[in-house]
Amino acid sequence: MKHKTTSSPTSTTGSTRPSGSARKERADGAASSTTLKPDPSPRGGKKATRPRSTSTGKAVASPKAPKTVVSTEKITPASRDGRLKVLFVASEVAPFRKTGGLADVAGALPRSLRQRGIDVRVVMPLYQGIPWHSLEKLEGTLSVPMYHGVDRAGVRLGTLPGSDVPIYFIEYNRFFDRPHLYGPPGQAYPDNLERFSFFSRACLELCKTIGFIPDVIHANDWQTALVPVYVNTVEWSKPLHGAGTLFTIHNLAYQGNFESGALFITGLGRDHYNQYEFEHFGDMNLMKAAIRHSNLLSTVSPTYAREVQTGAYGFGLDGELASRNGDLRGVLNGIDTHEWNPAADPLIVAPFSVDDISNKAVCKATLQAQLGLPVRADVPIFGVVGRLTAQKGFDVLAHALDQILSWDLQMVLLGNGDDDAEHFFSYMAARRGDKFRAHIGFDEGLAHRIEAGADFFMMPSRFEPCGLNQMYSQRYGTLPIVRGTGGLLDTVSNYDQATGNGTGFIFWDLTPGAIADSVGWALSTYCQRPDHIAMMRKRAMQQDFSWDRAAEAYEHLYLDAYQVRRKHPFGSKPQG
Ligand code: ADP
Repeated sequence: MKHKTTSSPTSTTGSTRPSGSARKERADGAASSTTLKPDPSPRGGKKATRPRSTSTGKAVASPKAPKTVVSTEKITPASRDGRLKVLFVASEVAPFRKTGGLADVAGALPRSLRQRGIDVRVVMPLYQGIPWHSLEKLEGTLSVPMYHGVDRAGVRLGTLPGSDVPIYFIEYNRFFDRPHLYGPPGQAYPDNLERFSFFSRACLELCKTIGFIPDVIHANDWQTALVPVYVNTVEWSKPLHGAGTLFTIHNLAYQGNFESGALFITGLGRDHYNQYEFEHFGDMNLMKAAIRHSNLLSTVSPTYAREVQTGAYGFGLDGELASRNGDLRGVLNGIDTHEWNPAADPLIVAPFSVDDISNKAVCKATLQAQLGLPVRADVPIFGVVGRLTAQKGFDVLAHALDQILSWDLQMVLLGNGDDDAEHFFSYMAARRGDKFRAHIGFDEGLAHRIEAGADFFMMPSRFEPCGLNQMYSQRYGTLPIVRGTGGLLDTVSNYDQATGNGTGFIFWDLTPGAIADSVGWALSTYCQRPDHIAMMRKRAMQQDFSWDRAAEAYEHLYLDAYQVRRKHPFGSKPQG
């Protein structure tokens, strides 16, 4: 098939190609080869034969014979070494590019899976900002069948930091060399369907081309929702069809909705536009198709797995999810216990641990001084960090703020997002600077200092698939005050005034009154029952939120997905 050079009807102007000479090495799906081979050049080294880009962003044909990408790493054919082989596909992976919790999962879970002996490999797009020059460029190109013909992508290979987990980057500048992953704030790129159809297809082609035939493919969120659909359709009767599929929903609020006429862009026939696959209230819905096509489904906490089957949390897909109730599991995310470790956190002023928490007071005093609040040990600080969006419930917190600030306490907020929320909290900080400080923006260091210096941490979420901050807070002895939903309910145990048990404070109604009540409850406990606060802190700091626990649960899911697909357990021979 020929390399198609024209943009699709739905694409934007196409190229946002780098113009500087330093960026010219990146292939926009390089020229004319059809398989992948090892690049004999040194890692990241410049090579005369490397495909060059034209000024229009299209790759030019190499004068040499066609080449296919082949990995330099040793690849053992499926099942030959007895290890479970898993392909993990994600549209974002920390620390390379991140917009949310999916990236954290994709960056951390595979490392723990590898430690369990699973041969897991990760695939993501090569976005702008990823240090491509430090990645190994596989020689040749990957042929990716698209609705209009075959596109060709480059492939770069690296490892997840601190591990030997291979991560493959699909290099196709026309789609991925852009400032944002999915679109400018509050918007979506108009060719997102084509971008992620391409990526999903490329992941599968990569497996076949480098000879890595996974036992299980783990796809995540709408951007890779087409992967399990392709495994059931275009891969029919081919090697990848034997792979079990697991689809994880990290956030049901984003489902990959497109107008129904765009189905052809996926490369699938119109017959797939039906109520059992893509059709959803007159639109095309990628997540719905993944829910129907995957062997198993999961969400990122047990409570969220139950909630998404209800009208209140299902965003219109509750019926679909409920119909697969028996195949839907909830696995609580872990956290990076190295990055979020108060005993060895370079971003905080004084380390502390469950055995010696005395330096937490130093962190608190420093935070107060840095933010211009009165430095007082006797007054509790309530911390807030997060995206200022409706999901997080900060609009309701805003209505409770006057009452909360009428009490003897301090509150610090770090966040960015909706304009209204940013303006409101800035205004309140100007008006009540004696007690309330707001930092509008994204600041990793300040997030750590708030976790370390605050006494309580507020998360009044409308819904929360898992949530990370409440787990970080507990690691830092900062007691979370949360709404009882999703992962918040699975990670925080409610304070019991009779016994002093619990690791935080839970409220149920998302109303200003309920938020203020729970803040008042925490405040009175802080003032009147300091021994309970000390016990809760200790208990919170001892919780196990490591990825190892989650990895064990995912391994079980993979084995189950394999068995559902193959009709026999992994490692055993099929019957009959
Ligand atoms: P979500 O993924 O829904 O945004 P999580 O609680 O799961 O919420 O994760 C949010 C992550 O982003 C946490 O690591 C949190 O500390 C971080 N974060 C959110 N907003 C900010 C900000 N303004 N500055 C620094 N870190 C932030």
